[in-house]
Amino acid sequence: MATAELIEGRTGSWEVVIGLEVHAQVTAAAKLFSGAATAFGAAPNTQVSPVDAAFPGMLPVINRHVVAQAVKTGLGLDAKINLRSVFDRKNYFYPDLPAGYQISQYQQPIVGHGQIALDLPDGRSRTIGITRLHLEQDAGKSLHDQHPTQTYVDLNRAGIGLMEIVSEPDLRSAEEAGLYLRKLRSLLRYLGTCDGNMEEGSLRCDCNVSVRRPGGPYGTRCEIKNLNSVRFVMQAIDYEARRQIRLIEAGGAVAQETRLFDSSRGETRPMRSKEEAHDYRYFPDPDLLPLELDPEWVAALRADLPELPDAKKARFVADYGLRVEDADVLVAERATAEYFETVAAGRDAKAAANWVTGDLFGALNRLGRAIEDCPVTPERLGQLIDLVADGTISGRIAKDVFADMIETGEAPGAIVERKGLRQVSDTGAIEAAVDTALAAHPAQVMQYKTNPKVLGFFVGQVMKATQGKANPGLVNELLRRKLASA
Ligand code: ADP
Ligand code: MG
Repeated sequence: MATAELIEGRTGSWEVVIGLEVHAQVTAAAKLFSGAATAFGAAPNTQVSPVDAAFPGMLPVINRHVVAQAVKTGLGLDAKINLRSVFDRKNYFYPDLPAGYQISQYQQPIVGHGQIALDLPDGRSRTIGITRLHLEQDAGKSLHDQHPTQTYVDLNRAGIGLMEIVSEPDLRSAEEAGLYLRKLRSLLRYLGTCDGNMEEGSLRCDCNVSVRRPGGPYGTRCEIKNLNSVRFVMQAIDYEARRQIRLIEAGGAVAQETRLFDSSRGETRPMRSKEEAHDYRYFPDPDLLPLELDPEWVAALRADLPELPDAKKARFVADYGLRVEDADVLVAERATAEYFETVAAGRDAKAAANWVTGDLFGALNRLGRAIEDCPVTPERLGQLIDLVADGTISGRIAKDVFADMIETGEAPGAIVERKGLRQVSDTGAIEAAVDTALAAHPAQVMQYKTNPKVLGFFVGQVMKATQGKANPGLVNELLRRKLASA
């Protein structure tokens, strides 16, 4: 056990124990049990079928595509697919839940035990257990800001398919929880089963946190509800762990309860004491038969899975000789990985990785753009690398050409010609510039005999005289030779 993960309290060390429950909205055109649309941001109550509004006598009809999405996600989590699962009614009253119950899965979920591998920054790997994944309906939304004294209800979200993905209490720090969420999000996006958009609420996280003495029995947990960013998850865990430690060390005990995270104060505070599961009076939904999956259908979905981040990362390290950290960054998004592979094809892969993770990411960050709308196509970034490799331009000039490409979207070759940036590798021309520089600075030539660092000064002079276009290798070589014999 790495000590870095422990928190030092007044009375000794504590270990944080975390389990996450993630709600992921299934990417699908229609809802879980109705044909209503699911697009985000539509005008309130324009995407509501009589099933979603729970009109009397309406019957749910399962959406095969949503089921396929859940199975694909289960396969991506290396999990057991349950060929028979059951939909239950989870009964509770809430204004945004017109039926008075949510259709969910309880004892027999569609996906059973699985796992996610995490690569920690210190080089260790951790395997985090997935307890289950089940399908359920999302609820509607109460709108409190439409009227001074009344609450409105928007049912557009009601009935959208959700996957609840529950982890084992295997996470041991806020950092691990952050890595887990990012990894899960990446996996869902690779699979195309959830867009992972936390701002729009497509991915939401409940955090269960407890503390214990290292290796001791689990402590009582609190659940922090509805966190909608990775940063908030990490802040909430840190705050909550320290709160529990202070409480226990002061002689108190943690009460199992649901808490809310106040992001403006960076604190958690009580919401309600934890309701018992039987409060929901779960029972199988009499309108729905148990869901039976055809093993061949599941096998076909498995055969159709894309290459997932772990496999891709291993391949990038093995085939391209990349450092693990670079591979990690490049595989996080499928679009980035594809971009990189196009750039790297037939070229120096390390140079390609450096350009993508360095200048390209920097530019995209500044522009606030995703790689899908990058002004520089991977083909053109590849051409730029070729221009450096064949000596047409220096690495230094390539940076300027790249900045120009980002701005104009032009091809690198065209920019080099337009601006006359071809590297001067003509020994005669460089020699002339070297001679001029030496003649103009006799004092520095003398200095060089006792201080070899003066070479840098002359390199600067020659580069200035050639507008940075002189081949740096040649400049250095010629200067060294001439200074030594001067
Ligand atoms: P519930 O149905 O009440 O939400 P579960 O047993 O399904 O309870 O657990 C929910 C989550 O709480 C899971 O992610 C699990 O890993 C986590 N969890 C369970 N025990 C602990 C604990 N002692 N500390 C932290 N997390 C825990
Ligand atoms: Mg729960």
